[in-house]
Amino acid sequence: MMRFTLPRDLYYGKDALEVLKTLKGKKAMVVVGGGSMKRFGFLDKVEAYLKEAGMEVQLFEGVEPDPSVETVMKGAAAMREFEPDWIVAMGGGSPIDAAKAMWVFYEYPDCTFEQLITPFSFPELRQKAKFLAIPSTSGTATEVTAFSVITDYAKGIKYPLADFNITPDIAVVDPALAETMPPKLVAYTGMDALTHAIEAYVSTLNSPFTDPLAIKAIQMVNKYLVDSYNGNMGAREQMHYAQCLAGQAFSNALLGIVHSMAHKTGAAFSTGHIAHGCANAMYLPYVIKYNAKVAEARYADIARSIGIDGTDAECVETLRSRIDSFNKQMNIPKSLKEFGINEDEFKEKVAEISKNAVADACTGSNPREITPEVMEKLFNCVYYGTEVDF
Ligand code: FE
Repeated sequence: MMRFTLPRDLYYGKDALEVLKTLKGKKAMVVVGGGSMKRFGFLDKVEAYLKEAGMEVQLFEGVEPDPSVETVMKGAAAMREFEPDWIVAMGGGSPIDAAKAMWVFYEYPDCTFEQLITPFSFPELRQKAKFLAIPSTSGTATEVTAFSVITDYAKGIKYPLADFNITPDIAVVDPALAETMPPKLVAYTGMDALTHAIEAYVSTLNSPFTDPLAIKAIQMVNKYLVDSYNGNMGAREQMHYAQCLAGQAFSNALLGIVHSMAHKTGAAFSTGHIAHGCANAMYLPYVIKYNAKVAEARYADIARSIGIDGTDAECVETLRSRIDSFNKQMNIPKSLKEFGINEDEFKEKVAEISKNAVADACTGSNPREITPEVMEKLFNCVYYGTEVDF
């Protein structure tokens, strides 16, 4: 038996935020990040709309990027005290991810992080509250997914939490919030969204329910991403919807090794963090070449859906150059070397990183199997920008 789960409601378009005025409930806890939502006036709006709906409102502010276990526990404690029947999470991926985990510990105070590591094993939520998510970036699509990533800094572990219980009840995809993104963030989050859609389409768990969402998302990214990067706000709006469609696809079809590789390299090098979307953008063309050995026809479907023609093999190659061209137009490097990763450090760490990447939760649904040895070869191609021929 398979399952396909999405939020009960999705509000989108200009002034979608105003739906908060009609929410039925008594108390809402609003969870936000570092301050951009406040600065741009969206937090005030959310608070005013919830009050207009007759709710008592409490804020939980300051959720950091890559939210910690401590932040989650602090938020859950604040929720236990305030007893909201709505959790309203707003911002980039981080505050929404953190709020999802707070929700679990609010409803189940005795639960531990270790108990949540096993995917799809959560206790039954919605005993105390429902969940509404408002994204301000156009990439993670956490407003519609069953995922949350929480970091245990003491143990140096990222917990990728996965369960349909944390798929929000309501997603509010208001394009005004996406207008606040700087161009670099547009590029990275947009390429993350493209990677979500492509990986979902070729995933071993792809289905007739996820395929149309993935293809439409890819078509929209193809059409709007570069314009959005260049400041066209109409295109920015379409990208906000495209990433949400990609999220609906990958929440149900899962991902592949582009994400495995990005997860394990994000914080691996002393020269600095590699942003998630930037890592995905760099690795995607290499992984397509590797996976095409078994998934050529699926990649060719993707290519044809954006007007590329030729044999399956030609389609895959043109699709790869299209991705290269997006990266080039948005100043994303082609290799880890070009990104600035030190060669000696790369050589020293690549075996360990490869082993970790193969063990990542996203590897299981990748169309082609991979061993740590082959992953190391793949990473070498990604580092030096050489052709994948295995
Ligand atoms: Fe991603």
